[in-house]
Amino acid sequence: MANLQLSERVPEVAEDGVWLECIETGETYAPFESIRYTSDVDGLLEVRYADYPGFDAFSGRGVWRYADALPFEEGVSVPEGDTPLHHVPRLESDVGVRSLRIKHEGMNPTGSFKDRGMTVGVQAARRLGVERLVCASTGNTSAALAAYGARAGMETLVLLPAGKVAAGKVAQASLHGARILEVDGNFDDCLDIVRELAERGEAYLLNSLNPFRLEGQKTIGFEILERFYEDEGRFPDRIVLPVGNAGNTAALYKAFRELVAAGALDRSEMPTLTGVQADGAAPMVEAIENDRDSVQRWTDVETRATAIRIGNPVNAPKALPGIRETGGTAVAVSDRKITDAQQSLAENGIGVEPASAASVAGLRKLRRQGVVDADEDVVCLTTGHLLKDPDAAVAAGNDPEPVPNDADAVLDHVV
Ligand SMILES: *Cc1c(COP(=O)(O)O)cnc(C)c1O
Repeated sequence: MANLQLSERVPEVAEDGVWLECIETGETYAPFESIRYTSDVDGLLEVRYADYPGFDAFSGRGVWRYADALPFEEGVSVPEGDTPLHHVPRLESDVGVRSLRIKHEGMNPTGSFKDRGMTVGVQAARRLGVERLVCASTGNTSAALAAYGARAGMETLVLLPAGKVAAGKVAQASLHGARILEVDGNFDDCLDIVRELAERGEAYLLNSLNPFRLEGQKTIGFEILERFYEDEGRFPDRIVLPVGNAGNTAALYKAFRELVAAGALDRSEMPTLTGVQADGAAPMVEAIENDRDSVQRWTDVETRATAIRIGNPVNAPKALPGIRETGGTAVAVSDRKITDAQQSLAENGIGVEPASAASVAGLRKLRRQGVVDADEDVVCLTTGHLLKDPDAAVAAGNDPEPVPNDADAVLDHVV
């Protein structure tokens, strides 16, 4: 079982108070001496710090507001973060919780939270002196990497599962100049290949296996806690989020642990982490339901929510303890319910891609089951923008109506 305790001991390998630590063995590594994604025993790495800042240390806007909690003073920036925490009064009363807020990560520069990871991850690539970047992707990682790689002037390769990536995402990767390599396989197959290329030293891997990416993504947690507290005078009880590789789940948990270490948050105040997967790709839900410490890979995965069409969530060893320690759970929802939730959000003026809507669909299900109480303050994370997947939006929305080229006829048709 992973040890996610933040220790106060600063190892000799630390550079400016920053090091990498294996979550399985506690082995520590210098952060920028050589390229490393996992430990000697293939355990996941976390970025650790000599000091963890409290809320007082944060200033400015966006991801780099939290520079004191990040490995660099600044990054390759578009800029990213500072996304809205929407009120949704109608959806809130429909779901039946004390308060419901939507943290819309689709409002990042390339339309998903992946930008938060890339602003830090591509900076790490610079620091390490690499020239070529690579990722496997269900789409959004490739869009973000293409944009941030372009901004940093680096060569970018993206491996995508052929025919399973939404149109908007391919368009972004393409225009930002990434080489798009389509694999006859699913996301997990693409990641296997990318890991091999990275191990051979052929390119720098920027999937969420890369611990620097999760550093950027943990700022979602800081933003939610700060903004919610500012508005309501308390922290939210629960954060509900879609789960693919479980990078965000791990990153949010890390944000909470660091604030606890800083004395800025009480352990009992950590929001309950609640993961949502699609019925057709739910290995994390299976692990939670069976009380297992690791996930078993699903080789056949299918869902309309292509961003979470993942059968082997690499960050499970970091995320499962987070769900458990915060008293959370994981739940699977059908594609039908995901589309319903996408429509509900749209009716409240919030346009998201299908995977994003899984959070709201999961909340609805857990509220109905009584797992979520009526007196809870809940934040749902919506991870990507509606325009990412125009085909899904068109399928879920109203059909265009042909009308004659004449004002009276148009009016006749409308009434
Ligand atoms: C990447 C992504 C996810 C999955 O996030 P993980 O951190 O891998 O669990 C969910 N939704 C969208 C839109 C994404 O792009």
